[in-house]
Amino acid sequence: MQISQRFSGLTGGGSDGWDLFIKSRRMIGDGVPVIELTIGEHDIRTAAPVLQAMHDSAMGGHTGYAMVPGTDALRDTVAARVQTRTGVPTTRDNVLITPGGQSALFAAHAAACDPGDVALYIDPYYATYPGTLRGVSAVPRAVPARAEEAFQPRMADLEKVAKDARSLLINSPNNPTGVVYSAQTMAGIAKVCQDHDLWLISDEVYDTQIWEGTHISPRALPDMAERTLVVGSMSKSHAMTGSRCGWLIGPEQVIADAINFATHTTYGVPGFVQDAAMFALQQGAAFETEVGAPFQRRRDLARAILAKQNTVGLIPSGGAMYLMLDIRATGLSGDDFADKLLMERHIAVMPGESFGLAAAGHVRVAMTIADDAFAKAITDLCTFAESLVPSQ
Ligand code: PMP
Repeated sequence: MQISQRFSGLTGGGSDGWDLFIKSRRMIGDGVPVIELTIGEHDIRTAAPVLQAMHDSAMGGHTGYAMVPGTDALRDTVAARVQTRTGVPTTRDNVLITPGGQSALFAAHAAACDPGDVALYIDPYYATYPGTLRGVSAVPRAVPARAEEAFQPRMADLEKVAKDARSLLINSPNNPTGVVYSAQTMAGIAKVCQDHDLWLISDEVYDTQIWEGTHISPRALPDMAERTLVVGSMSKSHAMTGSRCGWLIGPEQVIADAINFATHTTYGVPGFVQDAAMFALQQGAAFETEVGAPFQRRRDLARAILAKQNTVGLIPSGGAMYLMLDIRATGLSGDDFADKLLMERHIAVMPGESFGLAAAGHVRVAMTIADDAFAKAITDLCTFAESLVPSQ
């Protein structure tokens, strides 16, 4: 039987960059002690009180079908949180609770794009983006950002492709670069979207992990709330990756239609997960700071180590749980460097090429192991890179 092009073409024919990750997991399975710095998974588990809230809710009977849009209580809590953080009036009618940010990304593009519409995204990008856009039968088009400009997109590059497009997907703080978009970048993006009548889809799943600079939600910029769809998640902010709880924020009519879409796709999020998410949000900012603090600490550790050598460059970043390292001085591609580092030093990092052409010659480091081991891994990575530099 013939499978649809939507399915067979979802990942563009390739592996979508997960080869190194799969190889490292296989080595670990074979008993090789690999230092894993590949994926964005905290090295802590979901906090016990959050799990207790989940358990209490399930034992209390919240195990049947939950309301498809999300429980009123969680939608109100998310709306209040968004309003407090951005100043934009937000009610439960602007909120759809989704099974993780990934599902919200899919729903946002399903709302914005008809089949065949061009959907823009910035390269380097989070690995699922092009497949998500193809999943709604949109045509993904990458707009490259430049390492030399700390991966802040250039407005002239956006202008060139915006007139044929329907939507633009951005992500700040950014995975894979850790870059936080400046006020100037965000204002430029808003202008391009207004000038060319684009939907702006703003993936803000790292919005609580800011180490430098300020997080700007573009929905809060003048006249942007009408055309901005915000993707949020409990995964990174509250170490709840496996709970699959996120949200889509947008104009009331979009959310009403997205609820209808959810009825025909996900049919909502388990009630006990939503209750746990609400409990976690009620713990306030101190809890979010606690979850993010290790990444800030490790970023400082890495910066101090990298400052002592000249081979590996650090892309100036301001948030999230990643560092993007420039290893072009070794003469290797990110793919080859990551593979050699894995095989010869048993350290697994993601090749920049896994996140698009713009990050070629770089590797992404997830800051997701204990401080001492992390500092040692960065030191070893630098020594390894130095050993590869061709002698003059
Ligand atoms: N957006 C970005 C940029 C991410 O890094 C991730 C997860 N790694 C997601 C969205 C999806 O996260 P989740 O579905 O767990 O909320």
